[in-house]
Amino acid sequence: MDTPLNWSELGPYFADENKARLLLESMRWPNGPTCPQCKQTATVYRMLKMADSKKPGRPGLLRCRACKRQFTVTTGTVFEDSHIPMTKWLQAIYLITASKKGMSAHQLHRMLGLTYKAAWFMGHRLRYAMSTDLFASKLSGTVEVDETYIGGKMRFADGAKSVDWRKAKTPVIALVERGGRVRAFPMERVTAETLGKAIADHVETDAVIMSDELNAYTKAVDGREHHATNHGAREYVRGNVHSNTAEGFFSLLKRGINGIYHHVGKGTSASTAMSSRSGTTRARCPMRTAPNCWCGARKASG
Ligand SMILES: [Zn+2]
Repeated sequence: MDTPLNWSELGPYFADENKARLLLESMRWPNGPTCPQCKQTATVYRMLKMADSKKPGRPGLLRCRACKRQFTVTTGTVFEDSHIPMTKWLQAIYLITASKKGMSAHQLHRMLGLTYKAAWFMGHRLRYAMSTDLFASKLSGTVEVDETYIGGKMRFADGAKSVDWRKAKTPVIALVERGGRVRAFPMERVTAETLGKAIADHVETDAVIMSDELNAYTKAVDGREHHATNHGAREYVRGNVHSNTAEGFFSLLKRGINGIYHHVGKGTSASTAMSSRSGTTRARCPMRTAPNCWCGARKASG
């Protein structure tokens, strides 16, 4: 399912509890409902309301034949045990992630028509989901590192023949675990020290690092196995050596910024954009560009 991108496309999901739940299911389980216990999809079936039953039935209830466990898409996520409708959760996720300057509990409360207490609770749970999983453990295996520059208008200084685009834009680094998680954040400057700190903080020492030929990486990898392609010599892939996954992430990120943020200035708004765009690449969030997880949809494995 191609997930919707903007407010008007998301409209139907914001208004219909069933659609909202199915959207969350498609995000959490791109390959079909999966038992949180057995991690199986083949053993899972939907519990439909019996025709002669007088009970109202519970929409979205699933059951695993193997472990006999009943669950729904919210089981093991930050949405579990909440009486707040899924439609309101989706709206809150959109508002929080799409607001450049953040969203206060008061504003959520007014915009969603919920009590202040409920809005405060949602804000906290969502921010928790956005921050914890992402930085819980270091990236491992093969990790692609790449840097790009985003945002900022390029202006010619008086009499200047060229603009220094590096000064106008914010450098952003992405660390992408092949087949796994992504971490991206803005940096003040791209140097061996700043890259080295990012790698030390987020990448295991036994990971294999792939990058382009930027000299700073040689020192920044700090003894980790490192392979680089030579973009200057038009070498982008050499067997297993490439940083195409990280470059792909950047192109999604830039499209996301155009679609949702319109522009990203130097500084904090770039981090806001980043924080809602890091996560795992395995599934997708409703913004399509954000490789999920900020919504807590995959907080529990399964
Ligand atoms: Zn099971």
